[in-house]
Amino acid sequence: MAIERFEDESAVKEYAEWRKKNPHGYVLNINIKNQGESKCINIIHRASRCASLDSPPIVNRDRPVTAEHPKLCSTDAKDLINEMLDKNLPYKPCGRCKPEILTTSFK
Ligand SMILES: [Zn+2]
Repeated sequence: MAIERFEDESAVKEYAEWRKKNPHGYVLNINIKNQGESKCINIIHRASRCASLDSPPIVNRDRPVTAEHPKLCSTDAKDLINEMLDKNLPYKPCGRCKPEILTTSFK
């Protein structure tokens, strides 16, 4: 399975369409500014089941797709996890939509 990347404001529409087409997929919210920090982390969400993904930017860090918060999407959460492991970046499942994915421990 391939990862779809939505990396800036120009991808807002495609990102919305992907989520609509893949309601059982997963969205990884990348936090560009704090990529390697475990306290401000990259979070995996369910594509169709999380209000955090659609909240306005000021509410939380899982805002809509922007250059600072690119989204990686896949129908298989393992793709997203492997991407983070390859790059040695911390990630966690969203506490709100609680995707059933493997978790790893990190500092
Ligand atoms: Zn979520």
